[in-house]
Amino acid sequence: MDVSVYNRFLITSALPYANGPLHIGHLAGAYLSADVFARFMRLMDKDVAFICGSDEHGAAITMRAIKEGKTPQEIVDKYHSLFKDTFKKMGISFDIYHRTSDALHHETSQEFFTNLYNKGVFEEKTTEQYFDKEANQFLADRYIKGTCPKCAYEEAYGDQCENCGSSLAPTELINPVSMLTQSKPELKSTTHWYLPLNKDEAWLKSFIEDGTLDGKEHHFAEQWKNHVIGQCKSWIDGGLNPRAMTRDLDWGVDVPKQIAGSEGKKLYVWLDAPIGYISATKAWAEKEGKDWKTYWQNEESALVHFIGKDNIVFHCIIFPSILKAHGDYNLPVNVPANQFMNLEGRKISTSKNWAIWVHEYLEDMPGMEDELRYSMIKNMPELKDSEFTWKSFQDANNNELVNNLANFINRVVVLCHKFYEGLIPEYHEDQVFTGADGAEDQGFMDSEMIDLHDDLDRVREAIQAYDFRGGMKKIMEISSKGNQLLQFNEPWKTIKTDEERVKAVMHLAIQYVEAIRVAIHAYLPFSSDKISKLLNKEIITGKGEWNEMMMELALGESLIPAGQQLSKASHLFSRIDDKTIQEQIDKLEKSQASTVDTSKFEAIKSEINFDDFTKMDIRTATILEAEKVAKTDKLLKLTLDLGFEQRTVVSGIALAYNPEEIIGKKVSLLANLAPRKIRGIISQGMILMASGEKEKLSFVSPEADWENGQSIQ
Ligand SMILES: [Zn+2]
Repeated sequence: MDVSVYNRFLITSALPYANGPLHIGHLAGAYLSADVFARFMRLMDKDVAFICGSDEHGAAITMRAIKEGKTPQEIVDKYHSLFKDTFKKMGISFDIYHRTSDALHHETSQEFFTNLYNKGVFEEKTTEQYFDKEANQFLADRYIKGTCPKCAYEEAYGDQCENCGSSLAPTELINPVSMLTQSKPELKSTTHWYLPLNKDEAWLKSFIEDGTLDGKEHHFAEQWKNHVIGQCKSWIDGGLNPRAMTRDLDWGVDVPKQIAGSEGKKLYVWLDAPIGYISATKAWAEKEGKDWKTYWQNEESALVHFIGKDNIVFHCIIFPSILKAHGDYNLPVNVPANQFMNLEGRKISTSKNWAIWVHEYLEDMPGMEDELRYSMIKNMPELKDSEFTWKSFQDANNNELVNNLANFINRVVVLCHKFYEGLIPEYHEDQVFTGADGAEDQGFMDSEMIDLHDDLDRVREAIQAYDFRGGMKKIMEISSKGNQLLQFNEPWKTIKTDEERVKAVMHLAIQYVEAIRVAIHAYLPFSSDKISKLLNKEIITGKGEWNEMMMELALGESLIPAGQQLSKASHLFSRIDDKTIQEQIDKLEKSQASTVDTSKFEAIKSEINFDDFTKMDIRTATILEAEKVAKTDKLLKLTLDLGFEQRTVVSGIALAYNPEEIIGKKVSLLANLAPRKIRGIISQGMILMASGEKEKLSFVSPEADWENGQSIQ
């Protein structure tokens, strides 16, 4: 049993988050796999809706807007159009690419929320949440950073640790810091609506592990990837907690006005984003004159979510809980999440600029969309993390696409022109020749065409099992067989001695080319179109061409008839030289080297004049004594030798230094600062410190042989 029992498919790709461009890791995660699947289902004459759009809400968007000095709408507009354009250029065949800032989406999400609210699904809870007093704002999700309680990573966000993947709540963070003001937030009470996931544990467990829902078989659990089931199982076994479905934010979908206490509240981005699949389907159906409900609410329609592994919990646990609570919607039959693709031995990182940006690739390598698709699919992280290297990209292109696929198709077309003026030759059924397996063959309609049929069936089986790498490999094997057919029979030689045999070989070789043209449409659509041009056929649009082909093969008929005129040969793929590859490697290294994280530096203070500067009297001094100031954490009382006098200075360095370790240290003292009383002690001046992040401080020390009292300018 597999997904082919369904005739209608709702295929979704994770909504990309509109706060930065797409890199190859995104492509390999949720988009290429879904595109191959959607294209193939269309080839099989299934009714397909392939849905995606930009995810435009959530705190990371507003954070980005603050950083760039723009409005959130400006940020999402910029990335939405970039995404749309990039996907289109890469041949990702979405039926619609929608966006969550669209009014239809706001309306759909609010209806959904109201439906659950009216059913009494939510629990209303008042809790203490972090609040930034200076910014007068609650700090949800990405507005807050701190140390991950699970792995001690210091840059964990309030909703997730990107280092260990744990889902977090802001209150779990150690040393939380507001991203808005860098200040330490305080707790303040606020009321939100929670989805009681704890009540869903039992049915979620059997849904994910056995594929049953309400006691009935729902999907084929054996087709779910182990790592997906494993991650869900560890979540459920660890116990699910109620999860807040609303936030105190000013950017997002409003909690519906008619709900008491809704003011200032927005829907949680992970509630509204997957509902984006529904609103996008509505927008598409309206345009196409279809009924969106048949795709979402009819049991004969299969829902398949393509995502990266970082979204598993949202698509396998939270969204199914939301859909089931509503009651009218189908739950997914599979969530074939991919793992991560690494780049040149390291994790892809947006912040460190260690990435290949797809829109830049398209500019640097024009017309080479399928070359990238092929390399991504060949290395797709279907079951474990994989790696992209420019060298492997070059090798895949030169050794496989050029030497195998392009070489085979080119030879066939060139020979047909040379021997038959580009017309596909007639053949005699009883002609003997050497088959692709090297054995003598007679009457290829009975054997060779059945073999081809079986090989193509393996492609179908792989794709239906979400093994896209395997399917691609099978297609390349068909091309290899084609090359072997030519190699064994050497038509360029035998044309002089055995014309009839060459006709049979060339006729068969053309059938291979035609089969590749159809099969490869799911993987390398641009190349499929080029082959269509070579064969003088209409391009494939995904209207059941696969089924027609398999039927003809099963009947032993030629896929493309004798007498058809071929176009002049042109190369499908070209070799990529070392220089081109080196340029890309250099670009990657360079962009990485030039990346400076400016967020950790303080802004330059307002300008002063030279007189202001010369007013400061800075002197060399030595610490003679140091002791902690009672009842404080940060303060040390220091006695300093200035050569001509001794001074007492109170300094906030106790977290960085123990008193005993700094005795005898040379320091720089701002000596003419007006005395201040600190904790009852008169502090006569201030020691200059270089301040790093948090408690990292160091003295600005003159050389050890400097005399005390010498002035520093
Ligand atoms: Zn962590």
